[in-house]
Amino acid sequence: MKTILAIHTGGTISMSQNQNGEVVPNDENPLAKEQVILKGQINLITDNLFNLPSPHITPQIMLALKQRILQAIEKGVDGVVITHGTDTLEETAYFLDLTLPNTIPVVLTGAMRSSNEIGSDGLYNFQNAISVAATPESYGKGVLVAMNDEIHTARFVTKTHTTNVDTFRTPTFGPIGIVTQHKAKYFQELIRTDVCEIDHVISGVYLLKAYAGMDGDLFSALDNKKTHGIVIEGLGAGNLPPQTIPAIQQLLRHQIPIVLVSRCYNGVAQKIYDYAGGGIQLEKMGLILCQGLNGQKARIKLLVALSSQKKGTDLRHFVSNAVS
Ligand code: ASP
Repeated sequence: MKTILAIHTGGTISMSQNQNGEVVPNDENPLAKEQVILKGQINLITDNLFNLPSPHITPQIMLALKQRILQAIEKGVDGVVITHGTDTLEETAYFLDLTLPNTIPVVLTGAMRSSNEIGSDGLYNFQNAISVAATPESYGKGVLVAMNDEIHTARFVTKTHTTNVDTFRTPTFGPIGIVTQHKAKYFQELIRTDVCEIDHVISGVYLLKAYAGMDGDLFSALDNKKTHGIVIEGLGAGNLPPQTIPAIQQLLRHQIPIVLVSRCYNGVAQKIYDYAGGGIQLEKMGLILCQGLNGQKARIKLLVALSSQKKGTDLRHFVSNAVS
C-alpha cells in the first residue's frame, strides 16, 4: 500500500461560509472530517502545516514547505499532496518544482468553493490529487497541479478566473493529463526540469507590468540597494515603451538583473522587433528574455536563481529558458 502525505496549508479548500455568506478560515480543517474514497487503498497521513489564505504565503513559507517535503522523501513516503489557496498556488507549485529533486510525485490542489458551499469542489479535488500522487505514471513529471479533472505542470499552469471551478489553465501548451474515474491519464511530457538547491530566499525581487505610455518612474523608484532583481511583463512579443529605457539602463548599470516576459496570456517572449524599446534592442541592452513563463513564475525563477547565487551567464541561461 502506498503512503501519501497530505500537507494542508490553508486556502478556500479549508474554509467555510458563515451565516452572512462570508468565506472565513476555520480552526479545524473540514477535510479532516471527510471520508476520502481512496482510504483503504492508500495509507494517508496528514500534516496541518499552515492554515493561511494564499495571499499570506511568502517565499519563506514556500521554503519551509520544501524542507517539510524533503523530510518526508527521506522518510520514504511515496507521494505528497499539498492543499493550498488558489490565488498563489501556481507560485508555490513552481517554487517547489524548481527546488525539489524530481523523485516522488508532488501534487498541489485547492478549491474555488469553500467546504460548506453547494457544489464545493474541495473534497473532489483533494481525492483526485491523492490518486494522481499515488499513480506510478506521475513519477518524474516535476511538481503537478490537479484541479477540476485536469493535471497541469507547475511550470506553466496559471489561475485564469476569479471564481469559476475551471480556473486553472495551461495557456499555449494545455494540460498534460486528465483525471477520470479518479485515475490519472497522461498525454504529454515536459521536456526537462532544472533543479536548483537553495537553503534560504532573498527579498527585493519585483514584478512590474508594462502599459501604453509607461515611463521610467517606477523603474527609477526601484533603483536602490534593496532591489536585487526585476521582472517586467512586457508588451506583445516582449517590447517596452521607449520612455522606460533610460531608467532601465540605469538599473542595468547598477548590476540589477532584469528579466522580460510577455503580458500576453498565450505565446512566448521573443526578440522580433528592432526599434527603440523592441525586443532585439532590449536584449542587446542586457535584459534577459524568458520564454514561456508568466510574470509571477519568472519572478519565482529569478528569486530562486538569485537565492542560489547564480550570476552572469549562469543566471542568464537558467532564467531565460523555461524548458530547462
Ligand atoms: N483567496 C483564497 C486563497 O487563495 C482563494 C482560494 O483558496 O481559492 O487562499
